[in-house]
Amino acid sequence: MSRQAAVPGQLAVVGLGPADARWLTPEAGAVLARASALYGYGAYLDRVPVRAGQARYRSDNREERGRAAAALRDAARGAQVAIVSGGDPGVFAMAAAVCEEIEAGPPAWRSLDVGFVPGITAMLAVAARVGAPLGQDFCALSLSDNLKPWALIERRLAAAAGAGFVIALYNPTSRARPWQLALAFDQLRRLLPGSTPVVFGRAVGRSDESIVIATLDAADPTIADMATLVIVGSANTRIIERLGRAPIVYTPRAIEAVS
Ligand code: SAH
Repeated sequence: MSRQAAVPGQLAVVGLGPADARWLTPEAGAVLARASALYGYGAYLDRVPVRAGQARYRSDNREERGRAAAALRDAARGAQVAIVSGGDPGVFAMAAAVCEEIEAGPPAWRSLDVGFVPGITAMLAVAARVGAPLGQDFCALSLSDNLKPWALIERRLAAAAGAGFVIALYNPTSRARPWQLALAFDQLRRLLPGSTPVVFGRAVGRSDESIVIATLDAADPTIADMATLVIVGSANTRIIERLGRAPIVYTPRAIEAVS
């Protein structure tokens, strides 16, 4: 047996969903329950029930690569490690950070048993609150320019809107970059009808949840914060007004002609 085949530990990258345990999959719950060590951003770890004998390593939201490396080192020493993300770990989250570390790290990390456990991502939770805005082709963009240049974000926004995609905007704003969503809306207003529906879903599934449905010409970027996901419709996305009930936002499945 080669030395590398003997690496005994395990690393699971686990999605917690957007809120509490109602939106945690049974698989994710089972993996969390049998881990010997948990790694994650503090606010996410707080969602995982405390279990005797399970170590917890909290880190800051921005320290993703360092956290991934620490979790891999621990797993390589034989631990059963779970590293947690909000939503789905593959969507702007820990799964890619772990892969980056595996690719850059020592060869032994490539022999580890590494698994990825999906979760409900924020755009699906927000979409479900209002109807079916993602019912036709859509894309997801992070507005954060921490890991890519703002010029690329602008180019992708224009391409997505120009191609008729519904656009889910993750990380629409933060204290360090409060101007980005306003710039994004300005750019989208040049490409899409003012009547295009815009959905702001904040802290969906949590006690402080709020949903705001607006049109692009009236959408106020200052109501979004770091816990908000914004869905900008396409020219086909529609709002159904209802008596005594919240409106439904949806994008019909059929598109008859290319405009
Ligand atoms: N991996 C996560 C996304 C991480 S990026 C996922 O799959 O959902 C963080 C962004 O996700 C936030 O800025 C916000 O845009 C969105 N988000 C996460 N949880 C949310 C929630 N409960 N309600 C609305 N948006 C949420």
